[in-house]
Amino acid sequence: MKWNYGYTDGRGEFYLTVDTDKCTGCGDCVEACPQGILEVALNDFDQEVVQVKETLRKQLSYKCLGYYAVCSKQEKNCHSVCPTDVITHTW
Ligand code: SF4
Ligand code: SF4
Repeated sequence: MKWNYGYTDGRGEFYLTVDTDKCTGCGDCVEACPQGILEVALNDFDQEVVQVKETLRKQLSYKCLGYYAVCSKQEKNCHSVCPTDVITHTW
């Protein structure tokens, strides 16, 4: 299942999508995120999967540096460390 976090506002579309079927809950992306945005937790289907911390969801576009804008240029980021390409970003 694809799980979307984020929103559209006057500045653009800010969505971080998690493909929960592919996530093993390994936590490597949690360690790689310099902003502390991610955590591994049980979802409604009792799967241990990555998610955006609840307290940060309404501020996602401000807390997340943006994959294409910033993090893709760094060796380690929430995409590069994931063995199964779980996370995608719109910005
Ligand atoms: S793009 Fe960067 S700041 Fe945003 S969740 Fe991934 S590692 Fe964290
Ligand atoms: S690195 Fe990938 S598989 Fe591991 S918890 Fe993060 S999204 Fe899930």
